[in-house]
Amino acid sequence: MQFKANMEVARRDFKYYIFDWDDNILKMPTKIHLERKAPDGSWEPVAVSTSVFAVVRKKSGYRPPADGGWEAAYRDFRDDAGGAELFLRETAAAIEKVKRGEEAPGPSFETLRRTLREGRIFAIVTARGHEPETVRRAVRLFIDTVLTDEERAEMMMNLHGYRAWLDRRTEFGTDEEELDYYLSMCHFNAVTNPVYRKRVAKSSGDGSAENAKKFAIRDFVEHVTHILQRTGGIFLHPVSVGFSDDDPRNVEAVGDFIRKELSRSFPDVKFVMYDTGDPTLTNGRKIVVSDAARR
Ligand SMILES: [Mg+2]
Repeated sequence: MQFKANMEVARRDFKYYIFDWDDNILKMPTKIHLERKAPDGSWEPVAVSTSVFAVVRKKSGYRPPADGGWEAAYRDFRDDAGGAELFLRETAAAIEKVKRGEEAPGPSFETLRRTLREGRIFAIVTARGHEPETVRRAVRLFIDTVLTDEERAEMMMNLHGYRAWLDRRTEFGTDEEELDYYLSMCHFNAVTNPVYRKRVAKSSGDGSAENAKKFAIRDFVEHVTHILQRTGGIFLHPVSVGFSDDDPRNVEAVGDFIRKELSRSFPDVKFVMYDTGDPTLTNGRKIVVSDAARR
């Protein structure tokens, strides 16, 4: 069997992306479970979208479930009690809506699509609490249902190119095997996952969701720089890492983290943020946080 490999990949710029999922790639219908005060003073259960939640979170007539608190409020964002299947079903439904033109794609939807087509390594970093395998399956769903046949063929040619260049391969596995290998090089971190937070707490002493997010970002940047160092590639082209998120609090916290810590640990890397809080702005607002070339 003849394999096609695009050897041009070795001459490309080294661009990597870290994507938030909800409202950045796709507008997800996942609900947060709350209780709302009824006129008679009793509390009744109510499920709200993430965007409604942003409005009602500080209102006095709403509270997390009396039984289970915030853990119970976010139960659909984790894998237990059927949450994994729900996430995959909702991802499939959200993609369908985009394809039928009923819902606009998230601001970074096309960037993820291009990243996959080009076979570039990337990371999903989300505040959800799923297992990495669940998030990986959602990306696999994206590959299978968003990319066209031509785009998937192009992706395979690029993956072969990277395999030949980085791993000195002259023969390749089946498409399924090569795709598996590619996705094994990518990171899928849902940072409120209890196992992940324990791992972060063990190695850094702080298992908070915010620190877990920083840990995931640093871990991914280390990962790509290791790959490039292995081949000497880091000296060939400028390396840039883009981070996209729609939540202004994350944009600010991660921007700060990059400026104060990452840009010092990785002076050769250019860091770019994409603030995707405005859903009408494709790709979001671009902010160059740290530019290696200008230092
Ligand atoms: Mg988001």
